[in-house]
Amino acid sequence: MSENNCKDTLDKVFEFLANDLPENEKSQVINHLDGCDGCKREYAIESKISNLISSSSMDAQASFASKMQNRLQSEI
Ligand SMILES: [Zn+2]
Repeated sequence: MSENNCKDTLDKVFEFLANDLPENEKSQVINHLDGCDGCKREYAIESKISNLISSSSMDAQASFASKMQNRLQSEI
């Protein structure tokens, strides 16, 4: 595997996780991850981070919604 491939793949990992890549680039990323342990490790880290981000923003949304609800109820 060339280093260029690794760099390209790592550049795309975040978009890949965000589901922002076109199908042909997605399969390039998957193919590269399949054969490259270094990028696979990076991918695992990125995917953990993006899970954390999406779950924490859902928590934030939920707590915002319940705050709004409390406020509405106390105003009634
Ligand atoms: Zn690689």
